Amino acid sequence: MTAGELLADSGLPPLEARALLAPLLGVPRESLIARPAQTVPRATGAAFVALVARRRAGEPLAYLLGHREFHGRPFRVTPDVLVPRPETELLVECALAVLRTHAAPRVVDLGTGSGCIAVSLALECPAAQVHASDRSVAALQIAADNAAALGATLSFYRGDWFDALPAGARFEVVVSNPPYVAAGDPHLASLTHEPAIALSDGADGLACLRRIVAQAPARLESGGALLVEHGFDQGPAVRRLFEAAGFDAIATAADLQGHPRLTQGRRP
Ligand code: GLN
Repeated sequence: MTAGELLADSGLPPLEARALLAPLLGVPRESLIARPAQTVPRATGAAFVALVARRRAGEPLAYLLGHREFHGRPFRVTPDVLVPRPETELLVECALAVLRTHAAPRVVDLGTGSGCIAVSLALECPAAQVHASDRSVAALQIAADNAAALGATLSFYRGDWFDALPAGARFEVVVSNPPYVAAGDPHLASLTHEPAIALSDGADGLACLRRIVAQAPARLESGGALLVEHGFDQGPAVRRLFEAAGFDAIATAADLQGHPRLTQGRRP
């Protein structure tokens, strides 16, 4: 069969179909547009059809390819970690703005997953000392692989939120994109291939955020900042958590789609 026929028969959006076929053929994606008549060997065609079936059954493209671009860099991903989302680049941008106001800041990313946030911070702010935690050993391994592949130096800790860190460790900046989808949210039905513990707290969506915000002041230097990602409708509730924990300069920022997704505050 020709590449053009395989792509058309796949029933996938052309961009996704080309993304799956090009690496199997060992050609750049553009070659599939320029030369749709190129012949695909039978075994390669069969491998493509198998990937198409998995994609059509809902597996994220990133898992089928094994990587996803985040903040301009390729991150290895497996089903052990959440697929990096473009909206999370907002967390990186806002954290960088705070980090750059310090000479040699210490920052920790709680629940680092693929490491996309922590590695991006380390590479964009070389003056920062970057720490990252996760309760999943498999996730920490992927984050460490990503750090090594991209040339970032980080310290990793296994455990839940702040409990993972050495007693007494304090930071200028704490960031987290915790699981914030509420149990029973219909949105979860379309996310069954990603790790459930990375998406939902199994409760009202605020359980992890509550714990992180409440414990952050004891781990922040005076003047230090906490930045968390949350759901588009959780802004008011998260700001109340920040107020209750004694933060000031509390503000919520919107992602590129205009959804309020990130709240930050400063420890007085
Ligand atoms: N933003 C993700 C989603 O809506 C959820 C990520 C998270 O829970 N941290 O699919």
